Amino acid sequence: MKLRTKILSTYLLLTVVGVVLVGVVTAFQIQTYLERHVEADLGERLTLVIRFLSEEQLWLQKERRVQLSTIAEALHSRITIIDRSGIVFYDSQVPDDSLSYLQNHLHRAEIQQASKQTFGIDRRQSQSVGNAFFYMARRIPGASTGRSDSVYVRVARSLEEVEGMQKDIFLTIGFVMFLAIVLIGFVSIRLSKTATRPIVSIVQTAKAIRDGDLEQRIPILAQDELGELSGAINEMAQTLSNDIRRLQRLEQVRSEFLGNVSHELRTPLFSLQGFLETLIDGAVDDPAVNRPFLEKALHHAHRLNALLHDLIQISSIESREMIMSFRYFSVRELLESCVAEMKSLAEKRGVRLSTDIGEDVRVYGDRDRLKQVMTNLVDNAIKYTTSGGTVKVRARAANDLCIISVQDTGIGIPEEHIPRISERFYRVDRDRSRGVGGTGLGLAIVKHIVEAHESQLRIQSTVNDGSTFSFALKRA
Ligand code: ADP
Repeated sequence: MKLRTKILSTYLLLTVVGVVLVGVVTAFQIQTYLERHVEADLGERLTLVIRFLSEEQLWLQKERRVQLSTIAEALHSRITIIDRSGIVFYDSQVPDDSLSYLQNHLHRAEIQQASKQTFGIDRRQSQSVGNAFFYMARRIPGASTGRSDSVYVRVARSLEEVEGMQKDIFLTIGFVMFLAIVLIGFVSIRLSKTATRPIVSIVQTAKAIRDGDLEQRIPILAQDELGELSGAINEMAQTLSNDIRRLQRLEQVRSEFLGNVSHELRTPLFSLQGFLETLIDGAVDDPAVNRPFLEKALHHAHRLNALLHDLIQISSIESREMIMSFRYFSVRELLESCVAEMKSLAEKRGVRLSTDIGEDVRVYGDRDRLKQVMTNLVDNAIKYTTSGGTVKVRARAANDLCIISVQDTGIGIPEEHIPRISERFYRVDRDRSRGVGGTGLGLAIVKHIVEAHESQLRIQSTVNDGSTFSFALKRA
């Protein structure tokens, strides 16, 4: 069932129940009021008739009966006088000569009651004249009737008029009830439309978002629960569209990386293949070229190996499979062991490699990974520094940090390349990098490891002047 139908049917049900309840209670109240009114009115008439009769003290005089009939007519009432034994000796609606045919009235309920308590009332169908009547009787003690010393005076009023009035009132109430239900029903239909309109708009927008249109937003019309819901859906769509953009970017980076990887692998592989094929095709027997060709083939095999090694490293870092093991260790020991390993390479290239370590401090990190970082940075510094230059490895304690840097007097990096230098496969000069055995992945690995130590790799460089790579570690 639609929400609108639910709201509408509930409204209508409540309306019908409410209106019927009010109608029935009102009708009941009016009926009670009318009955009380008729009773009081009849009481007054009875008092009037009794006053007239007792003043005259002439219950039986024929002439008085004419006057009684006039009073009965004027009061729209039936007047009956009954003697103590129940015999009717006057009734305004029965001719005198028919009185003897009337039943004894002693057992009429109002007379019974009046005989015991002076006063009696009843409401019933008259056996004597046929209509429904409201009767009220009173015993008058000591009245002289000739036959006994007390009489009952009874006044009755036909209920036809009252019943007619009641019918009119009930009809009016019924009509008003009907009008109220129609009116409220009409208003409910309109209200339910207005009330569900924002929900309909929320549903439409949510469906559009589900179907991929992430730019859709729900207008927030009020600061109520629906407004909150709309806001939440809007935020969700916003987050989703950001997430999707991020995923698309990641996907793009991934496919670019794959393209780069295959390109990088292809070059040494083709060269290797070329040298081997030339050798097989006969060069192997030519002592002038066989050895240099084999050496070149080996060089490319080394390159392939280096490339694969770095690729495995970077993929294990990026897939978070590389487990870091943090501990405290001496920064001097790390730097000196690294420099000792790179010394021969530096000498081979005619580069002076030295350390400048102030006080020795203990730093917190993964020593093996940091050794890899230092080896990479020192290796780059030596590779991109021409013979005669210097490379200096420094450590400086600063507050709760220890700043480690590798400074060279090499070729430097043009400013526009600096921000991208640590991207995978990004090189300033591709041929030069290959020439010195670079894979283009070294700085990307360095950056990852440094960031895993909650630090940043900082690069300062001036072309032809040299470069400084630095990062910070936490001290003990
Ligand atoms: P590669 O294997 O090519 O050296 P890296 O990721 O280590 O790859 O470095 C990326 C590029 O950054 C290098 O190709 C080079 O252009 C530049 N570079 C890195 N270190 C230095 C340095 N000390 N001096 C000048 N250029 C450098």
